[in-house]
Amino acid sequence: MLKGMVAVVTGGTRGIGFATVKAFLDHGAKVAVFGSRQETVDKALENLKDYPADAVMGLCPALNNPEEVKKAFDEVTAEFGSLDILVNNAGISARESLFDYKPEDFENIMNLNVNAVFVCSQAAARIMKDQGKGSIVNVSSMVSIYGQAAGCGYPTSKFAVNGLTKSLARELGPHNIRVNAVAPGVTNTDMVAALPKEMVERISAPIPLRRVGEPEEVANAIVFLASDMASYVTGTILSVDGATQV
Ligand code: NAD
Repeated sequence: MLKGMVAVVTGGTRGIGFATVKAFLDHGAKVAVFGSRQETVDKALENLKDYPADAVMGLCPALNNPEEVKKAFDEVTAEFGSLDILVNNAGISARESLFDYKPEDFENIMNLNVNAVFVCSQAAARIMKDQGKGSIVNVSSMVSIYGQAAGCGYPTSKFAVNGLTKSLARELGPHNIRVNAVAPGVTNTDMVAALPKEMVERISAPIPLRRVGEPEEVANAIVFLASDMASYVTGTILSVDGATQV
């Protein structure tokens, strides 16, 4: 589905991002894994050594720094020849009560979950506009629909991600650049895997599919939105949450 395409996946070193990197490689894309530190990028590349070495590269620019991001994207296009897909996946969450919430923690979460999505999308769109085509997929969350009873910075950031998704879809559509998002429900990444079995059962019970999602299931939705199979889909927030209702 992605043969001949070049993708950047931010936060591609683990969890949903890493599953997306693998799915993209399985579907024939070349992938640049962006991580927060060189050592986690190196570890991810080590875990991808079954794939052809010329199909994958790793970088760790500060995602909200326009100069660093531009330099990293330039390295990707120099190495792989184009930039067809950007997945804005890197993100952090929060659980603090409003009464304990420090303004700097609110700023930190907005910096990565929103500002970095803006900076990376802007840099990618400049390249995609010149290419005449591109696809951006943002990783939002089900909390962008329901909100969350603690850690208000996190849902606030994901509402903003949906706003960027819908607005950039309108602005970039005339340049043949599609912009969509996935909104995962609770997904079985390291954080969920570390929870006691009973707690995961409790979380799963009210979900109509009676289980949490797997990172690969979110990755499959991202592959679809990134690919030409979704050539007339833009501005969509695709829930991947087993019909979770909060
Ligand atoms: P994770 O913590 O397993 O992975 C997060 C990724 O982001 C890592 O690769 C990490 O290196 C990267 N990252 C963190 N801080 C960074 C920084 N400052 N700069 C660059 N990269 C940074 O998380 P995950 O669960 O795989 O989440 C991925 C995305 O999915 C996030 O945007 C998250 O909000 C969203 N999401 C996750 C769930 C879930 O249940 N796991 C549900 C809904 C949405």
